[in-house]
Amino acid sequence: MSTNLVGLERPQLMEVLARLGVPERQRKMRAQQLWHWIYHRGAKSFGEMTNISKDLRAKLSAHCDIARPEVVMKQKSVDGTRKWLLRLAPDEHGQRHEVEMVFIPEEDRGTLCISSQVGCTLNCTFCNTGTQRWVRNLTTAEIIGQVLVARDTLGDWPALIEASPNPPAAGRYITNIVFMGMGEPLYNTEHVFPACRILADGEGLSLSKRRITVSTAGVVPEIPRLGAETGVMLAISLHATTDEVRDKLVPLNRKYPLNELLAACRAYPGLSNARRITFEYVMLKGVNDSEEDARRLVKILKGIPAKVNLIPFNPWPGSAYECSDWEDIERFAEILNDGHLAAPIRTPRGRDIMAACGQLKSESERLRAKQRRTAESRARTTASGGATITTSG
Ligand code: SAH
Repeated sequence: MSTNLVGLERPQLMEVLARLGVPERQRKMRAQQLWHWIYHRGAKSFGEMTNISKDLRAKLSAHCDIARPEVVMKQKSVDGTRKWLLRLAPDEHGQRHEVEMVFIPEEDRGTLCISSQVGCTLNCTFCNTGTQRWVRNLTTAEIIGQVLVARDTLGDWPALIEASPNPPAAGRYITNIVFMGMGEPLYNTEHVFPACRILADGEGLSLSKRRITVSTAGVVPEIPRLGAETGVMLAISLHATTDEVRDKLVPLNRKYPLNELLAACRAYPGLSNARRITFEYVMLKGVNDSEEDARRLVKILKGIPAKVNLIPFNPWPGSAYECSDWEDIERFAEILNDGHLAAPIRTPRGRDIMAACGQLKSESERLRAKQRRTAESRARTTASGGATITTSG
């Protein structure tokens, strides 16, 4: 069995090197070189690692690899948002599961939204992913592998950007990473925490901790650990201001009610005006969008350095909710602003390719090959107006 080096932290990587017979005094340096090739140069094979001895390269090629998830489908929205359907390597039962990942380009930054699980256990009633059964946690390699695939597609490797006649303003395409794809990241801390550390490491993927955000529906006991063990930013899928409503929308609330969740937020390390917690609030008509809700939201967030993202509900086939009326969303935002809470209304991105918040679903039954082909030809015939789909593999 070949060992995938993607997603190994330094001590584990040095163990692999030890097994290959690399003398102890060289292991640290070799691990450093491998990280540089994998995370800065985007290397896919050991052959190109010219500063590593031929002998070691041969051993690495024989026993290890640098594996990424396989791209099954790429789609691009009319607004520039991209979505990938990725197929994972076979698990211990030989099953190859799929996950989705989304890239949202903006003027001054680009946000990659990655998945942490195949499916989800939470069953939030307004979320499409919640209708898909939970299958398994992603490994650290699969989480980091998503970022490598996105960088491959976007040409987001330092050498390519340096050579580009038209480089992105921020010096890289992916400037922010959010764990807001499929799954509950705090139910997969074993793999999400190391992934956060590799993303934030200057010799790893080299993103600032302030630009990495883990979003949770509220797994309270893991929140302090996230702060202590990774130091990344926290987002909470709040969506309601009373336990009664939140119990229905986010069933996890029955286990960890609002007062416990907000206490954990208050205690999150390193908060300041410049490092705030993001509270996501999906606007559901007649459910959580009243003026009273807005006033209560101001009250319950008092004292927490906070920002509220108001997310117009994104519909999906079979969903039982409607998006709030635009005036109601604006009124809601105004009340929050009057209460000194920043409350941007998020423009839905990528709705035409089902890439917007809460629309992700990858159950392979959903899009069988035949349907994929139909979707492709539809995209071709609406080439100027619709989404574009490219299929590979
Ligand atoms: N399980 C984590 C990570 C998923 S984040 C969490 O709950 O935070 C995905 C975000 O999109 C969450 O805030 C989720 O509540 C929100 N969302 C889900 N379905 C949505 C929909 N149909 N419209 C808008 N936002 C939605």
